[in-house]
Amino acid sequence: MPDIIQLLPDSVANQIAAGEVIQRPASVVKELTENAIDAKADSITINIKDAGRTLIQVIDNGSGMSETDARLSFERHSTSKIKTADDLFAITTMGFRGEALASIAAIANVELKSRKSENEIGTQIVIEGSKVISQEPISCSTGTNFAVKNLFFNVPARRKFLKSNTTEFGHIITEFQRIALANPEVEFKLYHNDSEVYLLPKANIRQRIVSVFGKRINQNLITIESNTSIISIKGFIGKPEYARKKSGEQYFFINNRFMRSAYFNKAIINAYDQILQPETVPSYFLFLEADPSTIDVNIHPTKTEIKFEDQQAIWQILHSAVKQALGKNNIVPSIDFNQEQGFDIPVLSKNTDIKNPHIEIDHTFNPFEHKSSANRNPKSSLISLEKENMANWDKLYEGFEKENEESDEFSFMSNQNIQQTITDHDVSDKYFHFKNKYILTPVKSGLMIIDQKRAHERILFEKFLQSLSTDSIATQKSLFPKTIELDAKDHALIIEIQNDLKRLGFDLDDFGGHSIVINGMPADSGNQEPEQIIDKFLNEYSSGEIDTKTQTKEKIAKSLAKASAISSNQQLNNEEMREMVDLLFACQNPNYSPFGKLIVSIVKTEEIEKRFN
Ligand code: ADP
Ligand code: MG
Repeated sequence: MPDIIQLLPDSVANQIAAGEVIQRPASVVKELTENAIDAKADSITINIKDAGRTLIQVIDNGSGMSETDARLSFERHSTSKIKTADDLFAITTMGFRGEALASIAAIANVELKSRKSENEIGTQIVIEGSKVISQEPISCSTGTNFAVKNLFFNVPARRKFLKSNTTEFGHIITEFQRIALANPEVEFKLYHNDSEVYLLPKANIRQRIVSVFGKRINQNLITIESNTSIISIKGFIGKPEYARKKSGEQYFFINNRFMRSAYFNKAIINAYDQILQPETVPSYFLFLEADPSTIDVNIHPTKTEIKFEDQQAIWQILHSAVKQALGKNNIVPSIDFNQEQGFDIPVLSKNTDIKNPHIEIDHTFNPFEHKSSANRNPKSSLISLEKENMANWDKLYEGFEKENEESDEFSFMSNQNIQQTITDHDVSDKYFHFKNKYILTPVKSGLMIIDQKRAHERILFEKFLQSLSTDSIATQKSLFPKTIELDAKDHALIIEIQNDLKRLGFDLDDFGGHSIVINGMPADSGNQEPEQIIDKFLNEYSSGEIDTKTQTKEKIAKSLAKASAISSNQQLNNEEMREMVDLLFACQNPNYSPFGKLIVSIVKTEEIEKRFN
C-alpha cells in the first residue's frame, strides 16, 4: 500500500484557517482595525461598501511596514508581536497569532499599500486567494491602507451564508463600537456606501461613550473607580432608571480588549439587586486592567471569553465597586418597584413611628401639554386616556397628611377616588377599576377581570397589523418637530423600517448624523412624548432576532403596541373602561396579549359563593 498522508498546500490550509478567523465581513473589520491599533495609529478610517461584501477598507496612520514585512505579513503564523512562548504571558497587543492577514488573503482580493515614516517610498501588494499577483514600489502616505474586495469570492458556501446587508452591517457596527470604546484616544471614521456613519474625534472615555451612543446617555452615567493589587477598574455604570430590556450596552474591557463574561456580568447585576425594573439590564462600560500574566492569553481568534487567575476575588471587587458607586449616588436598594414609577420618601416626625407615604408621580407628565393632548383624537377617548390621577397634586400631599393614620396601605387610590369610580358607574354596564390596573365587571358566569395594559396592547397590535397590510393610520402632526438622536444601529433600523412606520402614522425624516426628525406621531400614541415611544419601541424591537418579512411586520406592530399602550397604573373612567372592553372583544384574539400573556380571567360565581359558605 502506498503512503497516503500529504501536507496540505498553504493556500488550502489558509482557507481552512480562514473559516475560523473570518466568519463574516465584521471579522475582517475587527482584524484590520486591531492591526491598526497595534501599529499605534491615532487616526483610523474605515470604508465599507455593501455591508463589506464589495469592499472593506481600513486606512491608518500607524507605523507602516517595510517591503519585506508587507510581503511576510500574509504568511501564516507571521507576526511581529511575539517571538517566544514566554511572550505569551505578557501580551499587550490585540493580535499575536499571525493568522488574520493570511486568512483574509485566502478568501478575498486584497490590496495593501504601506509606508514607514522613515522611508520615502512605500510598497503595494495585490493578492488574490493567497496568490501574490504583484508587489511594487508606490508613493503613498505613512501608515497602512488595506482594501479587501469580494470577500468569500472563492468560498461560495460562505458567501451564501451571509445575512442581509442590514444584519451584516449591524455586526460591523458592533465590532466597531467595541474597538472605538476601548480606544478613545484614537480618532475613528466609519463610512458605509460613502455616507458617514461615525466620526469620532479623539476624546476621553466619557466623551467617547457619548459620541457612540448619543447625548442622552451622558446624564445617566455614574463614574466608577477601584484600584486593588489584582485588578484596577474604571469606567461607568448606568443609572438604574436608564436600564433597558435589550442587552447591548454592557461592555467589559480587559487591558483594552473587549471581553464577554457571563460570570462578571452577574457581579454587576447582583449589585443592582432590587433597584431594577423586571427584565431590564443596566448599562455598563468597565475597563479592567490586570497584569497580563494573570490572564489566559490563549484566546480563541473569534471568541471573546477570557480566563482570570483570581476570578472570584475580581467578582467581589466588581460587585462592591458597583454597589459603592450606586450608594454614592444615593441610589439605595429600598425603592419599591411593585408599581411603575413609584417610590418611597421617608418622613421624619417627632415621637412617632416612621411611615413611608406613597407618592405617585408620572415622569412623563408635561403640564404644558396636558390640555392639548386630552383631545388629540376626539373620536376615541381611549386614545387620549388621561393620567388625571397623576396630575392630582392634592393626592400627593394627602400622603403626608395621612402619615399618622393607620392606613399603611395608602397607595393606588384614595378612598375618595374609589367612591367616585362607583358613583360614576353607568347602570347598564358597571365597571370597577381595581388598583388602576384591572377592569372588573360582572358577567353571566361570574366576575370578569381584565388587565388593562395587556388589553390595550392587544387592541393596538391588531390595529397596527391591519394598517401595515391595508390602510394607514392617521398622523397627528406635531406643532414643533422633534429631533431625536439615536445610536447608529437604532438609526439604521428606523430608516430601514421607515415605510412601515409611516403606515403606522409616523411622519419622520432622516436628519443626518444618527438623528431623525419626528414631524408627526400615530394618533394612538396617547400623551407620551415621541422620544419615549421611539425609545420603548426600539427597546422592544431590538430585544429579539427576526428575519423574514412577515415576521418583521408583526414585530413592528407588537413593539409599537407595547410602546404605545397605557401603563398598568393609569386611572380610567367608566366610559374609557367600557370602550376598552368593547374594543378588546372586537379583537380576533381577546384572551392573550401579543406577547402571549393572559388578558382576561373570570372568577366563577361558585368560587365566590364558596367563600361565604
Ligand atoms: P497579528 O496581528 O496576530 O500579528 P496579522 O496577520 O493580523 O497577525 O498581522 C501580521 C503582521 O502584519 C502583524 O504582526 C504586523 O507586524 C503586520 N501588520 C498588520 N497590519 C498592520 C498595520 N496596519 N500596520 C503595520 N503593521 C501591520
Ligand atoms: Mg492582527
